Amino acid sequence: MIPLDYHMHTRFSEDGDDTLEAMCRRAIELGIPEIGFSEHWDVGPYEKNPRFFQPEPWYAELERLRDLFAGKLTIRAGIEIAEPHLYPQPAAEVLTRAPFDYVLGSVHFVGPHFMFDEAYFRTHTADEVYRAYFAEVETLLQTADIDILAHLDVPVRTAKPIFGYDPTRYEDQIRRILQMVIDRNLALDVNAGGLRKAAQNLMPDPLILKWYAGMGGERVTLGSDAHAASQVGLHLDTALDAVRAAGISHVTQFELRQAHLVSL
Ligand SMILES: [Zn+2]
Ligand SMILES: [Zn+2]
Repeated sequence: MIPLDYHMHTRFSEDGDDTLEAMCRRAIELGIPEIGFSEHWDVGPYEKNPRFFQPEPWYAELERLRDLFAGKLTIRAGIEIAEPHLYPQPAAEVLTRAPFDYVLGSVHFVGPHFMFDEAYFRTHTADEVYRAYFAEVETLLQTADIDILAHLDVPVRTAKPIFGYDPTRYEDQIRRILQMVIDRNLALDVNAGGLRKAAQNLMPDPLILKWYAGMGGERVTLGSDAHAASQVGLHLDTALDAVRAAGISHVTQFELRQAHLVSL
């Protein structure tokens, strides 16, 4: 059984296709007991649709669905904030607009470079791309007010078919990131979005999950990164297998930004 799916986007995100209700119905159909919506909050200078997300109508709809599906589905209010360390004021401001259960922090841009931009990867080396990305994640972890680190190693999703990915080359940086996650009691988003792409890579890579567990890391959530109802829960069986294989025996639930560990 898939215990939860905490990373999904609806039409309240500029790149989401479906309604909250459609995503809920798909989760119930799949027998997933708990989901969380994590719409994008993007405010950076290179975003196409900054501040697209409107928390108030979204939260009203989420509350309606909590009533409608009471006893069948637990629905969490999450949010995915891009580069929260660079834009602390808008990040803090959006968190006052609804009672969020958790905050995912992500790096989508390193400077002007978008982590899903093939042209960037075609004009830079693997070492340049991954080292700069992991350095940005380290900086994020120093200050950002988050609960979950989103899709660690996300460049892999687009870059792997171009120049591959060998996490052992960046082990020093990645272990510093994992130590910060552990020290701050954050969770890792085990994100299956890369399994839908040519990269065929879980994020973080299963080897990184093993390093994390070996360092004492135990807090993880699962995320399909669905942008359509048909993607809810997709490949989370594979994500769960990787979590278990790493030696992690819990998933972490969040309610009003309090973590609860649940045995797998
Ligand atoms: Zn993301
Ligand atoms: Zn996302």
